[in-house]
Amino acid sequence: MTELIAGPGPHDGYAGGVVAASDSVMHIFWLSGMSCDGCTVSVMGADTPKLEDMVLGRVPTIPQIVLHHPMLAEDSGADFMEPYRQAVEGTLGAPYMLVVEGSIPDDQTFQQGGHFSAMGLGSDWSGAMQAVRAADQPLRATDWMWALAPGAVASIAIGTCATWGGIPAAAGNITGSMSLMDYLGGDYRSTRGLPVINVPGCAPIGDNFTETVTQLLQFFEGTGPMPEFDDLGRPAWQFGETVHRHCVKAGYYEEGVFAEEPGDNECLVEIGCWGPVVQCNITERGAINHMGGCMVAGGACIGCTMPGFPDKYSPFYKAPPGSALSGGVSKVYGGAIRRLRRMSMKTGNRESIWDKADRVPSAWAREAGERGTIQKVNAYFYKKLQYHGSVHHGKRNAKQPQPQSLDILRQKGVDLEASVPVLGERVKPEEEI
Ligand code: SF4
Repeated sequence: MTELIAGPGPHDGYAGGVVAASDSVMHIFWLSGMSCDGCTVSVMGADTPKLEDMVLGRVPTIPQIVLHHPMLAEDSGADFMEPYRQAVEGTLGAPYMLVVEGSIPDDQTFQQGGHFSAMGLGSDWSGAMQAVRAADQPLRATDWMWALAPGAVASIAIGTCATWGGIPAAAGNITGSMSLMDYLGGDYRSTRGLPVINVPGCAPIGDNFTETVTQLLQFFEGTGPMPEFDDLGRPAWQFGETVHRHCVKAGYYEEGVFAEEPGDNECLVEIGCWGPVVQCNITERGAINHMGGCMVAGGACIGCTMPGFPDKYSPFYKAPPGSALSGGVSKVYGGAIRRLRRMSMKTGNRESIWDKADRVPSAWAREAGERGTIQKVNAYFYKKLQYHGSVHHGKRNAKQPQPQSLDILRQKGVDLEASVPVLGERVKPEEEI
């Protein structure tokens, strides 16, 4: 099936046009602004689905991806740039997505030439298009962005630099770095009517990206619903929850137990974790292949997925101001809850048979003998509460005798003090016992 998608209208240096869209191929044009390439590394590790499966056409219900990526491409020079030129010119013959990694520097304002991030030469920008740079001068990454975004079926910012400006846009921003949303403006829409889609993270979770692209493609193909995005263009199912809600250390927070230094097992809020107020699914999804991730690896959340990062989450070594209150409250009630839970745990760590026999048949046990009076009283009231309004089978069968084979080795007369490796030699005949 082939359909026509309207290309962008003419604007400075851009010819505009109509591109033919095939549902069997989708080009992805990857551009890097002020980037460390960490987003690319993350996406290469994505698992559900894998980038290589998408490129090889092995993901059902989506078109085969033709990835044009400056770091992963086999082609180089003019050969690599040719499809970019065709996409801008409107002669690619297939739909495309634009993906931007890294923040967008303010180099369009340079009057005398120069750039902060570039790809290709002015000569790569040819054909029907009005030249924007001299043939031997680098094309700015920002040239490609403004030219490609209007004709894309979707423009995706990957990583916190492209989504919100990130570290290059932190206080003292000498490059005038900004997000793709800031650069294209709030009125931007793709050819399918979509504003910029943002998959943040520093580095982002690779699966968040490949999953979002897959869901978008399924929607375009008519094989899936429109994915849900929040009011900042984030995939809502990925960024709707806080880090804290699914953190492996959340139980410590609830019981009011906190780490004192990095490397401690407990909740990290007192040494700078912002997890309770940061939207990210790293604690559910892990960093790569469902493994690792900040808190799992012992690192405090510094808010890297949030638009306010890094300035609003620094200094990273200090506890968030609100943590003194919430952590303090948690220490008080969590401390009491924790003690009550330990009592329940103690009870649950004993078989009913051990309660009746008043001994634990384990040489490991710290408490192998009788329960103390307080423990018995606790257990009595605990059971009262537990079985209130329902049947307490243990009580019903209180007269049930203990199993006869308890402590069978003693019954068999095995010398438990001796260390004899062959059991047969340790069993005395019945008459000797
Ligand atoms: Fe919440 Fe951070 Fe503590 Fe995890 S380490 S429980 S995210 S405050």
